[in-house]
Amino acid sequence: MMKKMKDPLAIVDRLAERKPLYREALGLYRQLAERMIEVSSPSRRLSFDENMEKMKRHEGFPLFERQALPIDLASASELLSGFMSDLIHEERPDTEGLMNALKISGKDPDWSTRLFEAILKEDHAALAAIAEDVGLDPDGLRYLALIALGPEMEALGNAVSDRIDTENWDYGYCPLCGSKPSMAYFTDSGKRYLHCELCGTEWAHQRIGCPFCGNQDHEKLGYLEPEQEEGHRVYFCRKCLKYIKTLDKRVIEDMAPMELENIVTLHLDMLAVEAGFK
Ligand SMILES: [Zn+2]
Ligand SMILES: [Zn+2]
Repeated sequence: MMKKMKDPLAIVDRLAERKPLYREALGLYRQLAERMIEVSSPSRRLSFDENMEKMKRHEGFPLFERQALPIDLASASELLSGFMSDLIHEERPDTEGLMNALKISGKDPDWSTRLFEAILKEDHAALAAIAEDVGLDPDGLRYLALIALGPEMEALGNAVSDRIDTENWDYGYCPLCGSKPSMAYFTDSGKRYLHCELCGTEWAHQRIGCPFCGNQDHEKLGYLEPEQEEGHRVYFCRKCLKYIKTLDKRVIEDMAPMELENIVTLHLDMLAVEAGFK
């Protein structure tokens, strides 16, 4: 989810100045980033069956499936525990839940593995049960866990970067891990890129059309753009009712990496949800 940013703390601080309403949300991210900086991404060597790989690409299958990623969940667990022990020193409303989670994960190493697996399998019921058990909000716990997977996903991304073709992969899911895009943006030349919610891979995608269901019918596609926020849009599809937040580099100066822009565009999610999209 997090590609290594050069000097992430400075980027976060600059963004917080531009978006004062999101100072608190960015503050949480900043705190996690401080620990992340200390973790060096492991280097991975993987072997591949070239023929199998060619066939998969040809058929439109991503290189890996979310449930079968060659990553080390133990080191992601360690990072997650680190996040939680950092956060319990803050005055936060979820301190008790974090303490419960930290205690359980210390006693039962499988706890975090189950958590990561629930997230990777997109098993919402399992995630909700794990979160409820410790008294945490599932979305908040998922957020921490996704960030904790960052260094592992980055290592995997580095190991396979020459095996995915991000310029000619015209599917609505990530060429590396098959996940849905969390955001999109237009480049200076007007090309659209989608950003993977899990591994942060960005791939070119046709300008028009719903990345989720492939709908190309203009009558059923559209966008919302809040007043006074040029270049910040929500593209929606009336066929599958999904939406994707999309930023336009031609209009927005100094655009931050997508995982940060995702945090400071929560109001766009609210706009989309109010309009009936999911
Ligand atoms: Zn991905
Ligand atoms: Zn659609």
